[in-house]
Amino acid sequence: MQLPVYLDHAATTPTSEEVVAAMLPYFTQYYGNASAIHSLGAAARDAVESARDSVARALNASPEEIVFTSGGTESDNAALRGAAAANSAKGRHILCSAIEHHAVLETMETMAERYGYEFETVPVEGDGRISPEKLSGRIRPDTLLVSVMHANNEIGTIQPVAEIGAICRERGVLFHTDAVQTAGKLPIDVRAMKVDLLSMSAHKFYGPKGIGALYVRRGVRIERYQDGGEQERGRRGGTLNVPGIVGLGKAIEISVADMETEGARQQKLRDGLIGAIEARIEGVHVIGSRTHRLPMNVHVCIEGVQGEPVLLALDAAGICASAGSACAAGSTDPSHVLKALGIDRDLARGALRLTLGSNTRIDELDYTVDTLSKAVENLRRLGGS
Ligand code: PLP
Repeated sequence: MQLPVYLDHAATTPTSEEVVAAMLPYFTQYYGNASAIHSLGAAARDAVESARDSVARALNASPEEIVFTSGGTESDNAALRGAAAANSAKGRHILCSAIEHHAVLETMETMAERYGYEFETVPVEGDGRISPEKLSGRIRPDTLLVSVMHANNEIGTIQPVAEIGAICRERGVLFHTDAVQTAGKLPIDVRAMKVDLLSMSAHKFYGPKGIGALYVRRGVRIERYQDGGEQERGRRGGTLNVPGIVGLGKAIEISVADMETEGARQQKLRDGLIGAIEARIEGVHVIGSRTHRLPMNVHVCIEGVQGEPVLLALDAAGICASAGSACAAGSTDPSHVLKALGIDRDLARGALRLTLGSNTRIDELDYTVDTLSKAVENLRRLGGS
């Protein structure tokens, strides 16, 4: 076993060597601007369109429905602001789940504060899932847009996106899903799920950072949100990040091909890890649904300890883990996700997220459980509990 043991794949993944190899020629050999008429421009353009095909195939979308962006945050912003601005004649009421990523929550809050939208969050059940019936009850004639993430980045809960999509389509409401944690990991079919807008980000599935995509269903209007050139059919101005786009295309192809076997393998490891932590450490609470859960996600709250010293003890032993959302790091306030689930404040301070990846091996998890149980024992002793 080699150190470090990396168990923070929900925050980001290593870029796979195959992806890097596919990208390299587009830095030094085929460096043309994808908008240029000459042969180097054409080579770059062909590569971009081939990556667009790969992304579209992964989602059961058409290539012209894919817009390349700088990542999940931009895709979320573009989807929500762009679709609301272009369709506000329908009304100004916008809804999202209480456990969305900040890229959605903050965007909607800003839309309400600055641009006069009426923003509401829909609570989740104790297992982190949203009830489609309760969501349906919040939809009004002036509801313009609903956003519910496919799976949560902290607790890994998978939402009933297809049911929510069907409700929104029937009620004539635009539906956006943040699939940043699921693209390349769970099957996605935007047609079957009745999704209008979907966000994804390459660095979550072994692609490079700073590149993502937004699916915009044909016929759904979004206001151009980045002025400049006519790139991306006039939807996003700016010279295309060709190496990044090539990397995104390659990464999604590999992830889709490996999805079934890798998902099953990680799920088995995940269940073993949860079982071992529960067996070795007293006072462990598994947060979020155990069944509707990303195969890679383990999230527990441990009684009588604080997350940060646990993370530091793990780090000192070469284990990279997280307390939950990367944005909550360094803060002692429980995350909005744990608050929304109604987790007791003291218990929420002992949050620990371990997220597995394609390189994760069983001996690394055995080592992690061992290290964790000793760290918890020490911290509890020091804390006098
Ligand atoms: N949405 C979710 C659910 C995420 O987990 C993240 C990243 O942590 C984002 C959006 C933001 O994506 P990016 O880092 O590509 O901006």
